[in-house]
Amino acid sequence: MSEREAILRDLTERARFYASLTSIGIPRCRLPETATATAASITSREAPSTAPAEELKAIRDFIGDCQRCKLAGGRKNIVFGQGNPHAALMFVGEAPGADEDEQGLAFVGRAGQLLTDIIEKGLKMRRSEVYIGNVIKCRPPQNRNPEPDEIMSCQPFLEQQIRAIRPKVIVGLGKFAGQWLLKTAEPISRIRGRLGQFEGITVIPTYHPAFLLRNPAAKKEVWEDIKVVRDLLSAG
Ligand code: URA
Repeated sequence: MSEREAILRDLTERARFYASLTSIGIPRCRLPETATATAASITSREAPSTAPAEELKAIRDFIGDCQRCKLAGGRKNIVFGQGNPHAALMFVGEAPGADEDEQGLAFVGRAGQLLTDIIEKGLKMRRSEVYIGNVIKCRPPQNRNPEPDEIMSCQPFLEQQIRAIRPKVIVGLGKFAGQWLLKTAEPISRIRGRLGQFEGITVIPTYHPAFLLRNPAAKKEVWEDIKVVRDLLSAG
């Protein structure tokens, strides 16, 4: 290879790297070609070229046996998220708990049962119609709050999942999901029920089902939020 070719190759690599940074300069994960191409085309509002299910699979494959943060050592299973790749409605929770870690599935414990009731009884939908994920994909020890470095490590994957699915509405469950989706540090009590946007997708934060198990009186407010979700979904 000539010196000129070597310089050109180096410049091309650097250009690729800088193009992969987020608007605040954080490297996004390097996803397989198909996934990055689709993410780029969505940003530029062209029709995505890859089907959502394939894209989700590419993201899961890319995550692999993830060792990117300190939660890797304590988990049993990565909880990628599950549901309908074509969902109009997506729920984002905080982090897997013990049941989720055991089964590798999001929201399958007590809080998950309440989420199922919200979906089936409140929204009159089947759970299989929606997509359910979390801000982080591995269980924190003793279910402690996710830490900033863990959220940063995991966030490219949730971003890519949302871009693959492009739901009409995202419900952020609890403080961590609400704040992450809306890029705010405001408390959940302030942002709940307030409509916002994630990359042009309508977001509504509400209380986390685990909070509702401890504070059943707050179900009244969640019901108000769910009525808004229902109206958003049924409006054209
Ligand atoms: N709580 C969450 O935030 N996510 C789950 O998957 C389960 C409980």
